[in-house]
Amino acid sequence: MARPIQAQVDLQALKNNLNVVRRAAPESRVWSVIKANAYGHGLHRVWSALSDSDGLAMLNIEEAILVRENGWQGPILMLEGFFCADDLPLFSKYRLTTVVHNNLQIKALQNAYLPIPLDVYVKINSGMNRLGFHPDNIYNIWKKLRSLKNVGEMTLMSHFANADKANGITSSMARIDQASKGLDCPRSFSNSAAILWHPEAHYDWVRPGIILYGASPTGKWQDIANTGLKPVMTLRSEIIAVQTLKEGDSVGYGSRYRATKKQRIGIVAAGYADGYPRHANTGTPIWVDGVRTRTLGTVSMDMLAVDLDSVPHAVIGSPVELWGKEIKIDEVAFAVGTIGYELMCALAPRVPVITV
Ligand SMILES: *Cc1c(COP(=O)(O)O)cnc(C)c1O
Repeated sequence: MARPIQAQVDLQALKNNLNVVRRAAPESRVWSVIKANAYGHGLHRVWSALSDSDGLAMLNIEEAILVRENGWQGPILMLEGFFCADDLPLFSKYRLTTVVHNNLQIKALQNAYLPIPLDVYVKINSGMNRLGFHPDNIYNIWKKLRSLKNVGEMTLMSHFANADKANGITSSMARIDQASKGLDCPRSFSNSAAILWHPEAHYDWVRPGIILYGASPTGKWQDIANTGLKPVMTLRSEIIAVQTLKEGDSVGYGSRYRATKKQRIGIVAAGYADGYPRHANTGTPIWVDGVRTRTLGTVSMDMLAVDLDSVPHAVIGSPVELWGKEIKIDEVAFAVGTIGYELMCALAPRVPVITV
């Protein structure tokens, strides 16, 4: 018998979530963002469930080649463009749309010999201050790129720093509008948060990531509870031991949980080497055989402890959900001070994954 931990990836939920995006942004085309191994879900496993997308967006050339060679014919957007000029022939060969965000990329495009021009997303820095050209320079950069024989269709793109807040895109949109006066071009600005909460920023192409996987851009499940989004990843395991603690007994490394009365606890086959966060303290929500309960003490590499006070029927072999449909990944993330993005991306390679 294999160790009982397993991740399930629900492709129907993924398709449902793409439909939620369609309804939220009915006038826009959709780049489904599948970077970071499809947010930890396994690119090879999920991309074809997203084949109703208008395009697929990612970071690594390996990811792009994988979907192309497996039959994806539509557009592919490389969200940070090419990292070195040597990759340009591959971009051309695989018909990849490239973001251009710095002067080195412009120079490389100017000097390359390419059989067919590349479509380009020109990135404007709207306040995030990671990538993109300063708004004051956009007009000249646009003209320059437009004049290059290696440049095909051009789109203006930006990425918001605060789209999860009510007035979070106002100053960014003002910068973009000011910089792009007189440019008649397609536009793409919206990540998941802007798709849900800033319809005025949808324009021609939206770029959903986290909401496709059924978690919240804010890190709080309540914020998306009424959107119809469904969790795609479920991380399950089982109880592999049951202990009865006396008052004063402790569990786990450092004895960080101590029983204040006689107490039954369960040991679950899941630990930080599976991607469950080690800094989950006592009280992190977890589901055991139909009951929402809590973790106890320090998470180990391969195991963690749970409170069975409220689960008297739990025995060795009882099912456990670490996150998924019962316990939202956002709830676990919130309890450990992070966001669902980080937990799903950190699912460890040793965890067997099945699609349902
Ligand atoms: C990751 C990414 C997205 C998707 O962001 P979510 O918050 O997951 O929707 C969109 N655009 C760019 C440029 C990105 O890097």
